[in-house]
Amino acid sequence: MEDCIFCKIIKGQIPSYKIYEDDKVFAFLDINPLSEGHTLVLPKEHYVNVLDVPEDVYAHMGRVVKRIAEKIQQEYKPEGILINQNNGRRAGQEIDHIHVHIKPIYKDTETFQEASYRKKFEDEKMKRIQKELTLD
Ligand code: 5GP
Ligand code: ZN
Repeated sequence: MEDCIFCKIIKGQIPSYKIYEDDKVFAFLDINPLSEGHTLVLPKEHYVNVLDVPEDVYAHMGRVVKRIAEKIQQEYKPEGILINQNNGRRAGQEIDHIHVHIKPIYKDTETFQEASYRKKFEDEKMKRIQKELTLD
């Protein structure tokens, strides 16, 4: 896509700190990292989000994410690794070219804790949601 910053990075029109590339997937360091090793993994083809991307491409992104997470663990020994992929502005997506964040969490890394916002639904409601979301 013409005016997509990530498409430009993949084509080499904008520089990046690349750490992985194959025929379908590209990975580079986030320019504004949460921590040392914060990496973005994305498909070379432009897809907007999880609803847009083909299943096999998403699955392949997952394989690459796992390999990079293992490399981060081996090199930096973080206390944890947070993996997230934002879809839509309200979910925190700023760049409309799907990407997975891999964020090493060290002793002093600040993380957003959503636990205090979690709810408790009644059994009836849980069953209704279960029914509505059960896959064929
Ligand atoms: P989102 O909020 O869409 O999930 O994440 C977008 C990420 O892209 C942000 O973490 C931001 O720091 C990163 N980012 C934005 N522009 C650039 C850029 O030009 N180069 C690199 N390497 N990362 C970028
Ligand atoms: Zn793009």
